[in-house]
This record gives sequence, C-alpha cells and structure tokens, in this order.
Amino acid sequence: MANLNVLITGANRGIGLQLAKQYCAEGAKVFAACRKPSDELITSDAVVISGIDVTDSKAADTLKNELGGTKIDILINNAGILTRENLESAPAADIQQQFIVNALAPLQLTLGLRSQLNTNAKVIMITSRMGSMSDNGSGGYYGYRMSKAALNAAGVSLACDLKADGIAVGLLHPGYVQTDMVNNTGDITAAEAAERLRQRIANLNLENTGTFWHSNGEVLPW
Ligand code: NDP
Repeated sequence: MANLNVLITGANRGIGLQLAKQYCAEGAKVFAACRKPSDELITSDAVVISGIDVTDSKAADTLKNELGGTKIDILINNAGILTRENLESAPAADIQQQFIVNALAPLQLTLGLRSQLNTNAKVIMITSRMGSMSDNGSGGYYGYRMSKAALNAAGVSLACDLKADGIAVGLLHPGYVQTDMVNNTGDITAAEAAERLRQRIANLNLENTGTFWHSNGEVLPW
C-alpha cells in the first residue's frame, strides 16, 4: 500500500477513522477529511483536512486546494447519517437530509474530484445493505433505505462512466458495525469492518467494478 494516496470523508470517528488509521499503518498517505477532527485523528499519521462538510458545494474545490498536485488513488466516500423513520413518523426534512448526505454528496464529490483521480484510481461508496430492495424484509428506515438505494444507482452509473478512465467503483456494505450510528450495537468493531473493507478495496478492479459487496466478500442483491 506504500505510496498510495487515500482520501476518506467522515474520517474523524467510526469506520472512517479506522480506515484512516489502518491505511496509514500500511504506509499509505491518508488525507482525512472531516468537519471537525477528533483527538484520535489528530494524533494519527493522517493529513487532516478539517472543515469539510460533504454537503457543501465547495467541498471538492477545498479538497483540491489542499491536495495541490497530489493525485488520489483511493477515494472513500464514507460520511453518512441515519435517522429512523417509520409509519408513524417520517419527517420529510429528515428523509431529504439523508438523501443529500448519503446519496447526492458522494456523487457530487466524486464528480468534483474527478480531475484529481489518478489513472487506475478506485472510488468507494460506503453504502448499506439497507439500500437493497430484495434484502428488505423488515421495512421502515425510509430515508436511509431510499438514500442508500440512490447511492447504489449513482455508483453503478459511475462504474460504467469511469471505466474508460481506468477507474473502478466499489459499492461496499461494511457489515453491522459498532459505531455511534447504531449506538454501538453491531456484530463487529469498526476496526474489523475497516480491515474487511480494505480487503474488498484491494480486490476491486475493472472486471468487478460496480459490484455491491458485503465487506465479508458476499455479493449483495440489489
Ligand atoms: P458514525 O456515525 O460513527 O460516523 C459517521 C461519519 O460521517 C462521521 O465522521 C460524521 O462526521 C460523518 N458525517 C456525517 N454527516 C457529514 C457531513 N454532512 N459532512 C461530513 N461528514 C459527515 O457512522 P459509521 O462510521 O458507522 O458510518 C460510516 C458509513 O458506514 C456511513 O456511510 C454509514 O451509512 C455506513 N454504514 C454503517 C453501518 C453500521 O452498522 N455502522 C452499516 C451500514 C453502513 P461528524 O462527526 O462531523 O458528524
């Protein structure tokens, strides 16, 4: 992994932080984008780029300024939010905000950073199996499910469109992970999820671009 440049959004906590630390440990140069850095991120070896709200239309330009001439080998769109709607309560504002953060922002950021991507770069969307329609047997979570399904749709189009540039796109479900998002319930730690995700990213190529994977290697249904 030495000499690779990795850019991660939402890198201050949870899965993003663990990805940042593990890529640093592998010898990659990590650009850790976040709104506000945590102490753990500050004391890591990552280059911290703070003040990055992924919904900001200027986020890509700000990142490009910080990167200067450095090209990105792996872009990980990790930042995300979850609110819990059900039949009794499904505020439009909450659904809209999840759509903006989880679906629109990763697409816009990827397009905005396209000129900064190296030949043979990899673009990762940290999605969720909750965006799978055929896997949905429990309902609810309207905004989260809709936004991750939309993210998957964007990812597949990007996989088609960026193939000619030699860029592969991975749609990765991290697993059910012990982070703030799920009140630290979950089957695996963020560190374990990051290890599995890095494995999937290492195996991503132009033949399997656009695939929706569980971090455990299982191919997920749309
Ligand atoms: P956390 O809640 O621990 O972390 C979410 C991260 O996203 C934080 O760094 C947060 O930053 C950042 N973020 C949220 N909104 C914005 C924004 N507008 N601009 C910039 N950063 C933002 O969750 P996880 O680590 O679990 O989630 C990471 C990804 O994994 C998400 O995309 C999530 O949907 C996905 N995922 C997680 C699962 C799980 O079980 N945990 C399961 C399936 C998918 P800040 O501190 O500033 O709020």
